[in-house]
Amino acid sequence: MHIFLFWPRLALSIAAVAVILVAAPVLWALGMGGGRMKRALVDVDGVLANFVGGALAIVNNMLGTRYVSEEVTGFDFCAALGLPRDVAAAVKRAIGATRGFAAGLDVLPGAIDGMRRLQQIAEVYIVTSPWNSNATWTHEREAWLHKHFGIAHSRVIHTSAKHICAGDLLVDDKTETCAAWRSAHPRGVAVQWRTAHNRRDAWDGLSTGDWDGLLDIVDGAASQSGAA
Ligand SMILES: [Mg+2]
Repeated sequence: MHIFLFWPRLALSIAAVAVILVAAPVLWALGMGGGRMKRALVDVDGVLANFVGGALAIVNNMLGTRYVSEEVTGFDFCAALGLPRDVAAAVKRAIGATRGFAAGLDVLPGAIDGMRRLQQIAEVYIVTSPWNSNATWTHEREAWLHKHFGIAHSRVIHTSAKHICAGDLLVDDKTETCAAWRSAHPRGVAVQWRTAHNRRDAWDGLSTGDWDGLLDIVDGAASQSGAA
């Protein structure tokens, strides 16, 4: 090859290698890993599904009360309402015995559009804790997720041990779960989904109650130290 043809090609090759060497760490630092999407683990009850609303429908039907979601200011809705222990046990048994409970829960406002947008920028897996005494819960949950969000059953993990699930980000309304997951995955981001029942919880991590805020966090626009 003539020397005048060789040198420009060599220069181009060196330039290409230099671009790759510079770009790769930058992409990795951005969480893209050379094109890898971030994996987001998303809770259902309290984030996508109005579990409290469904539970209160049973409570109000049993007791003739008119409780509303804003009155549930603790994760244990029966304790938050001050229900006596035997009444609380009866309510929880009723949820366990109600076929169609998980299938009939309302989708929380904004969740369908929010999930559609989240799925465009992240690999979304559902991590959801089953109501073990309800025989049809897991089947109904998967059908519900597919019906409303188009989520395949292979993307749904039923467990209360969410801290064993690996991902770049967890979104959950149970502060205790966020804390356990963050301890197990210190390089991940645990996002507390803000609700009436967790406002009083001690939590120094990220917290948001709307999908714009969550998408900002996933985009990396929010800092670790500030709440969205
Ligand atoms: Mg939840």
